[in-house]
Amino acid sequence: MGIVIIGAGLAGATAATALRQQGYDGPLTLIGAEATPPYERPPLSKGYLLGTQPFDEALVHPEPWYAEHDVSLRLGTRATAIDRDRRVVRTASATDAAGGEGTAEEDVPYDQLLLATGAAPRSLRMEGVDDFVTLRTVGDSTRLKEAFAEGTKVAIVGAGWIGLEVAAAARTAGAEVTVFETAALPLQRVLGPEVATVFAELHRGHGVDLRLSTQVTPDDLRGADVRIAAIGVTPQIELAEQAGLAMAAREEGGGVAVDATLRTSDPRILAIGDIAAHDHPVLGRRIRVEHWDTAKRQAKAAAAVLLGGDEPYRRLPYFFTDQYDLGMEYWGNPGPAGYDRVDIEGSTDALAGDAFHAFWVRGDEVVAAMHVNDWDASATIRESVGSRRSAAVR
Ligand SMILES: Cc1cc2nc3c(=O)[nH]c(=O)nc-3n(C[C@H](O)[C@H](O)[C@H](O)COP(=O)(O)OP(=O)(O)OC[C@H]3O[C@@H](n4cnc5c(N)ncnc54)[C@H](O)[C@@H]3O)c2cc1C
Repeated sequence: MGIVIIGAGLAGATAATALRQQGYDGPLTLIGAEATPPYERPPLSKGYLLGTQPFDEALVHPEPWYAEHDVSLRLGTRATAIDRDRRVVRTASATDAAGGEGTAEEDVPYDQLLLATGAAPRSLRMEGVDDFVTLRTVGDSTRLKEAFAEGTKVAIVGAGWIGLEVAAAARTAGAEVTVFETAALPLQRVLGPEVATVFAELHRGHGVDLRLSTQVTPDDLRGADVRIAAIGVTPQIELAEQAGLAMAAREEGGGVAVDATLRTSDPRILAIGDIAAHDHPVLGRRIRVEHWDTAKRQAKAAAAVLLGGDEPYRRLPYFFTDQYDLGMEYWGNPGPAGYDRVDIEGSTDALAGDAFHAFWVRGDEVVAAMHVNDWDASATIRESVGSRRSAAVR
């Protein structure tokens, strides 16, 4: 029996680690559809894709760690159903490296269950174009890395984080890159126009053909050697849905509804990472975050709850990106109420490698803050979120 974790990604593997670190010595099973031991995905669109970082560095642990810590790691195994009455997880061996469903079935019993099934890229359907590639797994990244070369024509649909990071990696490899985006600026929804414009200038400055306010057509994609869809992800909630767990509303970003302590509507089942729509005690609303930091930190918090704790998860969302020579970190989440103004301190000439700080302010409260290229300022910027800020500084 013991604890079973479904999803051997960053959140699942971090939770297994935290359970052992926090003293749990009972049975622990980690079920993962991919054939590869758990790994971090950020390098797949950065160092690994650029060819500057070996894949091994992205592993949460070298594979022997799991046996050494008595974690039963079932790779290439997909959970296909949860029977909450019998408290078993039905599994099937996955047939391919990406985790496609196979046939050999087995039931894994649990006392408590942790869901960490992550998210999958949204697919793009367009008449006459059936070869879009997406980026989620190490296999996807390896294929893109092999395709990016001097003169390769790369078309990317979507100028969000993944689209832009892939554009930067492709340009760095000497590819000719065109990015299509329906919004007026890249990252506009997350950053707002004041800061999003910095990313537009950065990519144009590096020679990306950035086509904004554009609905891409098959004609636009005709000459490209590689066509990439980077239009966001959807949480992998089918298992939880079939098990009858409460879900978050679509307007709330979907996902498995969890309370402040990360428990689902079934107290024996918790959910964390990209699938979890968390009732955030500090923000006072439900939020589902698709970021590395949240996956890791929720995993540690969930381990404590599985072991009898009842501490709510309070951390504010955090994310980072690296594109060309620009590195940045961002904390907070303005949410549907938005912000009234953005105070920018420093030079936003990202092409020149300059550094700046930005503060998104609602009323007189900082609801989000970031730095670009000023890593020493991390702590100060993070601590500014939630503080008062009266006058605009420009
Ligand atoms: C290319 C890329 C770059 C990124 N860069 C950044 C970044 O710079 N900064 C940042 O903050 N975030 C970044 N992210 C986001 C970050 O990687 C995710 O938020 C994080 O991986 C979420 O962890 P997770 O464990 O919830 O999900 P995942 O990492 O998706 O892991 C879930 C795992 O569960 C498995 N699974 C799903 N269903 C089943 C099932 N039924 N049975 C068994 N296994 C199952 C999946 O195969 C997968 O391996 C990036 C993501 C990608 C794809």
